[in-house]
Order: sequence, then structure tokens, then C-alpha cells
Amino acid sequence: MKKQLSLLGSTGSIGTQCLDVVLQAGYEIVCLAAYSNAKLLEAQARRFHPSLVALVDETAAKDLKVRLADTDIHVLSGMDGVCACAAYEKADTVLNSVVGMAGLAPTLAAIEAKKTLALANKETLVAGGALVTRLAKENGVTILPVDSEHSAIFQCLQGMHDKTELKSILLTASGGPFFGKSKEALATVTLAQALKHPNWSMGAKITVDSATMMNKGLELIEAVWLFDVTPEQIQILVHRESIVHSAVEFSDNAVIAQLGVPDMRVPIQYALTYPARIPSPVKRLSLSELGTLHFCLPDEETFRCLPLCRKAIARGGLAPCIANGANEMANALFREGKIGFLQIADLVEGALENVPSQQIYTRQDVFDADKAARDYVLAQQR
Ligand code: MG
Repeated sequence: MKKQLSLLGSTGSIGTQCLDVVLQAGYEIVCLAAYSNAKLLEAQARRFHPSLVALVDETAAKDLKVRLADTDIHVLSGMDGVCACAAYEKADTVLNSVVGMAGLAPTLAAIEAKKTLALANKETLVAGGALVTRLAKENGVTILPVDSEHSAIFQCLQGMHDKTELKSILLTASGGPFFGKSKEALATVTLAQALKHPNWSMGAKITVDSATMMNKGLELIEAVWLFDVTPEQIQILVHRESIVHSAVEFSDNAVIAQLGVPDMRVPIQYALTYPARIPSPVKRLSLSELGTLHFCLPDEETFRCLPLCRKAIARGGLAPCIANGANEMANALFREGKIGFLQIADLVEGALENVPSQQIYTRQDVFDADKAARDYVLAQQR
């Protein structure tokens, strides 16, 4: 039977690339959900004929309802609508590519409905890792990583017989557009410069996270939860070419890496076809054309978000949730031109030091800590 897919975040970068993969692989789309882009969601709905669609924004959802009035597609609104798509009975797989902490509620809804979860939303594992992984275990749900590095690690781990065989993870980072820059130079960088990622085409939030290297810090925490390793087992490796998407080191010191041209359609497709592989329209890798690949350690004194994330996961409990919430708000303020680039790390650090955390937490605690971290960042602006 064809895979029945519910796609959350369908109008974003991952969402549109996922639909590209779906066209190739011939899956059935049963739900599409997004934030507010009614025009694009209408076009996608007409192309893929889902049963159910949802937009978070109420006004946009009303607009979408009018646009789809001549079809039998059911239109929902709000976060409840997105969660209904995540738990939709006809879906067997949910791909969650919602941006940020907003992805947590649909992630939990998908897990509770026992869907296979293809996860592109790293913030949900960062903010509520203990909760999400425990619920997934209880419900027998498999979480398949879509993040390129984590997909690479997951691919490298296929065939591992016992968890004790895994010694370390080499998590690669492009270094972003500001690789090699000094702190002084970073003080005056603009949004336009931050949005010029050397290798990957992504949404604005993650591209700014990539420039601060917060993205790699979030990915470190994501890897801790996905692969059940300690933060000390993960080494960040700057690799400018983004050809090696990550590697794992085994107990016999053998290192296995996954390589390919930087194109998100490979990790998206693997999450959907796992454990099988099928042909892809993605360009083939030519190592002879490349000739050389480079690796070095990150500059953690300049890119402070990275060690701050290490500190947060070492503290545990809600500390990663607070770091993530502060970063989401600071990232948005930087994109609005309200703060400078270096202030993002200052605000993440300030939130980690000042927002109360706790070790054991419930779902509500995660939402409360996220809000407290955002409020802390906003209060620093007044
Ligand atoms: Mg990534």
C-alpha cells in the first residue's frame, strides 16, 4: 500500500522539497498544514488532493476555506488544526517541518496517535527531549531524523549490532557565512549578510541560527536525544564543503561517514523510504571533481552559542528549552533589525543564567519555561 503522509509545514523550505520527493516516490498526501500562506497551500491542495488541510493563522484559514470552497477538502485553523493533521486517522507517517518550538504540540499529537514521525523540527527535541523520547518509547513510535546531519548519523548506524559499539559522533558544520570572522567583525554584520549561507538553501530562522552556530548547538542536543549518547561523545567538526554530512566512530576506531551533494531531498526521502532506498533526482557526488575536503575545530570563543548549548544540555532539565526559547526570540529580534548579531548569544546566556529551570518536567513546564525565556529576552529590550 502507498504511504499515507501528513505534512506539517508544507509551505516552507523542507515542506516544498518534501512534496518534490513525494511526486517522485508516489506517496499519498492525506494532510497539509502550514502557518499562514493560504495561496501556496491552496495550490498544494489542488495538486495533491489531501483530505484535510490546516493553517495556524485564523484569518488565513478563513481565506483558504473560501479558496477551496469548490472542493471537498476539509479546512481547519489554529494549532488545534495542525495537531488534528498530526493525528489524522488515515495518515501512517507524519513529517513535521514546522519551524521552532511551535512544532512541539504537533510532535506530541503525532506520537500519541502512534504515527511514524519523520522529524525535521529539531526544536521539539531540544525543548522537550526527555518528554518526547519517553512518549515515543511508550507508544512504540519510531522517530526518523530529517535534519541532514542526523539523517547521516542514522544512515551510518544502520547495521550496528549493539549500542556499546558506538564510540563517538562527528557532527559536521559548514561554519556558516561568518566562518573565520573575528568578534569585532561580527559586531556590525547585517541580516542580509547572515542570510547568505554558503551551501544550503533554507528558511530565514535556521539560516540565522547557522550564522551564529546556534543551529549546531541545537543539533548537538538533538543528537543526544535521537542517538542516546552523552554530549561528550559528540565532536563538532567544521567542514566548509558540506559534503560529509556527519560520521560515527565505532569501538574499533573505524569511522563511517555519509557523503553527498548538499540537497535536503536525500534526507527527506530516506526518512520516507527507510529502510529501503529508491532513485533520487538529486545530483550525483563526484569526489574526483572536488579533489579535496577540509575539516577543522569550531571557534567557540567567537561563536558562543555553541558552548552555551553544551552548557545547557550538561545542566539538563529545562535548560535546553530555555536556551532554545531565548534564541528563538533573539533570532526574531535580529531579523527585525532590533538587536545586533552578537546580542543573540548574550541573550541566550542571560536567559540560561536568569530563567529558573528544573530537572524533571511536564508538558506544561516546557511551554512555561519557553515563555519565561522569551519574556526574559523581551524584558532586556525595554
Ligand atoms: Mg542540519
